[in-house]
Amino acid sequence: MTEPILFERHTEVATFHSPLAGMELAEDRIEVRTDPLTGMTAIASAGLEAKEEAFLGKADWAYTDLLVARSREGCFFCPEKVLQATPKYPDEFIPGGRLERGRALVFPNLFPLAAVHAVVTYPDKHFLRPSEFTPSLLEEGLGAALDLVRRAAPANPGMRHVSVCCNHMLPAGASLVHPHLQVFGGEAVPWLVGLYWDRSAHWLSRHGRSYWETLVEQEKSSGERYVWGVAGVHWLVPFAPAGAREAIAVVPQVARLTDLDDEHTAALAHGLTRILTWYEDEGLSAFNFTLYGGPLTGRDAGFPVVLRVIARTAFQQDYRTDDYYLHKQLGGELMFAAPEEMAARLRPLF
Ligand SMILES: [Zn+2]
Repeated sequence: MTEPILFERHTEVATFHSPLAGMELAEDRIEVRTDPLTGMTAIASAGLEAKEEAFLGKADWAYTDLLVARSREGCFFCPEKVLQATPKYPDEFIPGGRLERGRALVFPNLFPLAAVHAVVTYPDKHFLRPSEFTPSLLEEGLGAALDLVRRAAPANPGMRHVSVCCNHMLPAGASLVHPHLQVFGGEAVPWLVGLYWDRSAHWLSRHGRSYWETLVEQEKSSGERYVWGVAGVHWLVPFAPAGAREAIAVVPQVARLTDLDDEHTAALAHGLTRILTWYEDEGLSAFNFTLYGGPLTGRDAGFPVVLRVIARTAFQQDYRTDDYYLHKQLGGELMFAAPEEMAARLRPLF
């Protein structure tokens, strides 16, 4: 066994005369956890669990249905418009201009932010609640995204990074209610992706073994945060989450997105459906996920395929954002509930 990963927790106390305790002197205990790889911090404090609803809220489905109905006509991703209103790739890259896989359709993003920036949508599904992303829909969507990645990689020899990402609903950054994924890849590596790669490479050279292999092995044997695993895909709740109700999937033996096979995709899709259904059961409706991979060029440096999924503020009238200075400017996260409790709640759902 190589050197274990150290999960560091720091405790501090805030003292004040509290109106909640009749103005007596009271103490609040704060726990700060540090992500062993990135150093990112996540904070938990007494009472934060009760405040989760102020941050994430509860989905207003009647209001959501209104927005869904209002946006149906004229939607660019719906069947009447999608073939006229969305861009096409040159025939020499993709014959016909767009890729299809099952119900999923892939086309270029009209406002690209990277050399390879594609949209994957299900034209027949103008809206999906989180629980309506079924395993087969996600397999088709992720599979279609990966088909695009496999074509784009050889056609763009300079492409160093690629991810498959999803913003679902307005609070998660989506501009349309129509569900879609995005393929985001190019030469200029996004900061956080670069950090994951650098720290993972550093870990590998210091320990002689991938951080992620060790993480899976350690989490599996302690069992506290490990949820489920099949076909080399391991789902767990991170020790120091990087977002609300974050779960991650690690595929330690697969370095690049281009190397994922259908079994991996099915295990990723299954896990996602479990998490998304749980979000909805908990009154949530917006989420983000990203499927990351190691560098497309150069040697594999210890960062494998990893998927991270987080819940965002539920969609309702006057919803507030869950991101504030802590997240945007200090680089920290809140833990509304202990990751170990979340893993215990997820396990029976898989
Ligand atoms: Zn639509």
